Amino acid sequence: LPEDSSDQDGREERAKRTTSGFVASHYNARPEVGKIKREESPIIGLKNFNNWIKAVMIARFARPAIRETNSHVVTTGRRPKYRARVLDLGCGKGGDLNKWGKAEIAAYVGVDIAEVSIEQARARLSERRRLFDADFYDLDCFKRKVPPHLLSPFDVVSMQFCMHYAFETEDQVRMMLTNVTKYLRPGGVFLGTTPNAKQLLRRLKKLPDPDPAHPEGGMSFGNGVYNIRFTSRHGPGKGAHPYGHQYWFWLKDAVDNVPEWIVRWDTFVTLAGEFELELQYKEEFHGIYEQEQNVPEFKSLLQTMRVVDSKGESSLDQDQWEAANIYIGFVFKKRAP
Ligand code: SAM
Repeated sequence: LPEDSSDQDGREERAKRTTSGFVASHYNARPEVGKIKREESPIIGLKNFNNWIKAVMIARFARPAIRETNSHVVTTGRRPKYRARVLDLGCGKGGDLNKWGKAEIAAYVGVDIAEVSIEQARARLSERRRLFDADFYDLDCFKRKVPPHLLSPFDVVSMQFCMHYAFETEDQVRMMLTNVTKYLRPGGVFLGTTPNAKQLLRRLKKLPDPDPAHPEGGMSFGNGVYNIRFTSRHGPGKGAHPYGHQYWFWLKDAVDNVPEWIVRWDTFVTLAGEFELELQYKEEFHGIYEQEQNVPEFKSLLQTMRVVDSKGESSLDQDQWEAANIYIGFVFKKRAP
């Protein structure tokens, strides 16, 4: 287990009381290290790979919806007046701003529960040439509605590495889906990345019960890069209840043992259907890599984003490659009402 997984300061007890506050303070406390220091991260290969996955998904699935909207806009003067807009829920420090710039959007709204991250995202944008209008809001998007005055219809809603924090309760997932869909135009796209619950539960099943002398140790798996620790085999009601199955996640140089929640995929797809969302795509990260690595545009991105070096050698070691595949990418489309 990683060093910081002990419960000496009552982390688990506090997490049980206010998980969202716990998550917000974790992300607020993570320093913005800047571009140069970032390159020194011991998991820089994995970070670059995750960014490549997001860039590919934006190009593959968000760009068509953006282009569809932009193509209806009459170009006047030297600068085309694009109309395409993106809502990024759980936007963090704004790490995807460049990717959205390349997708030729006109406006971006970033929302995150961690107000320090929101400040950093604002600062990041002001350092760059502004390709689009942007607004940022600190808000718990699982408990509160994104205020309507901010928004006209969005073409794309993105939730990257964030959605699973909602799965503590059904109410939170419903609020999240309300925020995803309320201002998403029909035909618009909801895309994201989240841990693959099926894989996590499959691996949990193979683990022995906790040592009765130290039951708080729980049941964990991982490697030198990541650790996932369950304290229970089931969520509430011996697993009959599809929400509230918690585990603790540690990712080297990124996530310091934070509570997350299993996303029961079938339950989620059914619920998303109630919000007019239809599943278009779901794939593990290794699968996305297999499918897209030889597409010329994405192949050259592998080098530009330093997932591979100039000789084509991967920058991920075996542990990072295994950690990458905890996640899936998914895409839903909003039906016409
Ligand atoms: N999307 C960013 C990215 O891909 O780099 C950040 C991902 S980070 C792993 C997860 C983000 O979800 C954090 O910035 C966290 O503050 C945010 N988050 C967690 N719970 C949230 C909530 N209830 N409302 C809004 N944001 C939340």
